[in-house]
This record gives sequence, structure tokens and C-alpha cells, in this order.
Amino acid sequence: MKTLLINGAWQAAADGRVIDVENPATGEVFTRLSRATAIEVDAAVRAARHAYDNAWGRLSAAERGRLLSRVAERIQACAEEIAQVESRDTGKPLHLARKDIAVLARYFEFYGAAADKHHGEIIPYLNDFSVQVVREPLGVTAHIIPWNYPSQMFGRTVCPALAAGNAIVVKPSEEACQSVLLIARLMQEAGLPDGAVNIVTGYGNEAGAALASHPDINLVTFTGSPAVGTQIQMAAAPNNVPCVLELGGKSPQIVFDDADLDKAVPTIVAAIVQNTGQTCSAGSRLLVQKTVYDEVVGRVAEAIARIRAGMPEAQVDCGPIITRAQFGRINAFLQRIKDSGLPLIAQGQVAEVPAGGFFVAPMLFGPVPRDHELAHAEAFGPLLAAMPFEDEQDAIALANATEYGLVAAIWSENGARQQRMARAVVAGQVYINCYGAGGGVELPFGGRKKSGYGREKGFDALDEFSTTKTVVHRFGFE
Ligand code: NAD
Repeated sequence: MKTLLINGAWQAAADGRVIDVENPATGEVFTRLSRATAIEVDAAVRAARHAYDNAWGRLSAAERGRLLSRVAERIQACAEEIAQVESRDTGKPLHLARKDIAVLARYFEFYGAAADKHHGEIIPYLNDFSVQVVREPLGVTAHIIPWNYPSQMFGRTVCPALAAGNAIVVKPSEEACQSVLLIARLMQEAGLPDGAVNIVTGYGNEAGAALASHPDINLVTFTGSPAVGTQIQMAAAPNNVPCVLELGGKSPQIVFDDADLDKAVPTIVAAIVQNTGQTCSAGSRLLVQKTVYDEVVGRVAEAIARIRAGMPEAQVDCGPIITRAQFGRINAFLQRIKDSGLPLIAQGQVAEVPAGGFFVAPMLFGPVPRDHELAHAEAFGPLLAAMPFEDEQDAIALANATEYGLVAAIWSENGARQQRMARAVVAGQVYINCYGAGGGVELPFGGRKKSGYGREKGFDALDEFSTTKTVVHRFGFE
């Protein structure tokens, strides 16, 4: 099994070791990955450095952009094939995988077009000086990505890094990365030079740790759990290189008594059942003004009860949980919820599925006490916590009462309240009467507090993956 892409060549691990990959809908092993160690990671970093110094790093911004745009076209041409691969690998319904691939193509399209529009600046200084602030790539960047949206996460992190002129090494998730391998082949076909993109499949504590601590990496970007985010920072610290961390959330949907519930309810439900709740920006807390609590919770409960989980090829709303380990964590969480006596308000259905699959029905619990684990801990599954609040001040306190700060939604028809709330909630993105679960490719995205730091998407990501050089020229007067 050759799943390591190093300097343009697909290779197996030097010791021949592999990782079994399970189909989450059946629990059966369906493919294997090469298991990279520090040896292959080092080779990948060297290849990236060579490409940065001699090939990719020497292209003009317009040439880089043109190649990324060509990849976008290749992805669009192969969209159905990539979606099928993504759906089988992650278990997500095919109609959702197709949407993920459309977003993936959009990343390449957006950053292909943006590559030559990321400018430096001229600073007015003393009269006989000219001062330019020039934008430069960092060099070689490391990208460690998770299993919940393999193709989207790949596009989100590699496109701005490449557009900015870096050569990259990607450590995708050992649980789900078949689409990443396919996209990397399309990038080769589109003409990216060897070594510009290197892929090391392997375990986090082996290949991931070797990459994060490698002394020739200039930035580490990671999406995943807060605990591993801390380890990544510690691994990168001796090299004094920056990190970009996106570490999940416990995002609130805040519903006031003047909200338009016909608009709010379907969006609130979609925000938690999307990708079976395995979304960093899932709207996992339903905060409702007391006066309309029963009505709102009743309507959300009816909608949750209609949600169907099932096999990815069926016309269902949710697929299985993507990994066996995550399935175990959610079941343990559910057991603790049960033991605590928390009322279950509504539950979706699981269609006929094989016995070994990792299926969980979406569930709504409430009223959840403010000190309950479900009120503040990320479940990373389709579990929605309903909680009442009194007024605006109480809503702000409750919205900000977790360690996270990724995304929030405000449902109200009162314009002044919308603005007050948007300013008071601590989050990287705030949606008013809508919810984007991470938002479009153009919209800066990232966390506050333990949700991490740094910004991805939009032009902000080009800033993250580049640095400035201030060039001061004294030309003097005649
Ligand atoms: P994780 O954080 O362990 O894994 C994410 C990525 O990091 C994978 O590629 C993994 O191989 C790598 N990794 C793991 N340990 C590493 C290390 N020591 N050094 C370098 N890389 C390492 O995620 P998980 O264990 O699969 O899931 C655990 C929890 O993480 C979930 O319950 C969920 O709360 C959270 N999570 C969040 C996101 C997100 O989008 N923010 C995505 C996946 C998981």
C-alpha cells in the first residue's frame, strides 16, 4: 500500500508497516494506509524544503494561482468520484459528501484567484526614505488534519498555504483520508511541481508528533481536540515556530422571544445533525428565552424526531459516527447523561443498518442544568442541550459560560439586540438569523479561548501563512 507522497513519488513506509482503515457503516476493514514514522516525515520535510528553494517557491504568485485554479477544474471534473470515496470513507450520506466536494473545489478556486492579490504596503516615513512592507511565504508548513471533513479540511488548510508560496507537508487523519490521497493525485496531474505537496499517512503520536516537532518546519497548523492542540504547541515550542489551532467548540444557538421560529427551527436542527454532530462549529447548545422555552423546544423536538440516520448511500439525514473511538466516546457520554437522570426530550431514528456500524440517533436533552457536563463539554456527536435564560444579560452570561468560543447564532427580529449580542458573545464568527457552521470559504474563521487561535479562510488565512519583511531604503536628496 503506497499512500505516502514524498517528492512526487507514492511510497510505502520503509519498514512496510500499514494501518487498517474501517468502514464506519459496517465496522469492517476496507483498506490500508502506509504507516509513516519519523524517517518518512523527515524525507517529506526535506522534499518540501527543496521544492520551496528550487521550484514552488520560485514561481510567481500568478503562476501559483494558475496551478491552483487548474486543480479546481480537475476537482470539478472528478467531483462525483471524490464524493463517492469521501462518503464510503467517512460514512456521510452521499448528498452531503457532494456538498463537501463543491466546497473543496471552491477553496482551490478562491485561493487560485487570490494568490496574486495579497499585497504588501508602502509606509510614509521620513522624506528621504522609502519603506516597503513586503509579504513573503514562511517556507515549509505542516498541516495536521482530522477525520470529520477530510476533503474540506484539506482544501481549507493547504490552499492558502500554497497560494502564499509555502511548500507543505500534510498529515491527514489515519481514520479517514482516502479523498485526500485522491486530491493529491489530481494536484500532481494539474502540474504542481514535485515536493510542493507531500502527504504522510500515519498515527498522530508517531507521524503527527514527528511532523509537529520537526526542526525544519516554519509553521504548524492543526485542527482537532484541545488536548492534542496543547501537545502540538509543546512540540513546536523548541523550534519557536507559530501554530494555527482550531480546537472545536460548544457553540450556542440563542433564541429570543421575538425570533422568527419558522426560520430558526430548521436551521437549529441542521446545525446539530449536520455530519452527525461531528462538526467543530456544531450548534450544540440551544439557549432559549424562558417565555418561549416550551414552544421552541417543542418545535425543535418534533423536527429532531423526524431525523433519520442510516447507510451513506440511502436518502438519510445522518450517517454513522466516523471512527470507532469516537463512537465509544459518545456512548460513554450518553451513559453518563443517563446516569445523571437528565431528561431526554426527543430522539431521531436509526434506519435498518448492519450490526457492526457506528450509528447514534440525534438526541435533544433539557432543561440541562448549567453545571451539567452536557452544558459545557463538547460531545462531537448529535447531542443537543436545551437551556432556558431570562433576558439579554443572562443570555450573554450563558453563551460565554464555556471554555470555548468558536461560533454563535442569535435569533431575534430586534436590530439593536442583534448588534448588542453580536458584540458581547465571545466567538470567532457570529451569525444573525442564520447559521453557517463554519461559514463560506471567503469568511475568516477561527476560535477564541480554548477553541484555538489564528484565522483560516478568506484573506486572513493568507496573512497566517505568510510573514512581512520591512524594507527601509534611504535614497537621500540631491
Ligand atoms: P485528535 O485531535 O486526536 O486527532 C486529530 C489529528 O491529530 C489526526 O490527524 C491525528 O492523527 C493527529 N494527532 C493525534 N495526536 C497527535 C499528536 N500527539 N501529535 C500530532 N498529531 C496528532 O482527534 P481524535 O482523537 O480523533 O478525536 C478526539 C476529539 O477531538 C473528538 O472527540 C472531538 O472533540 C475533537 N475533534 C475535533 C475536530 C475539529 O474539527 N475541531 C475534529 C476531530 C476531532
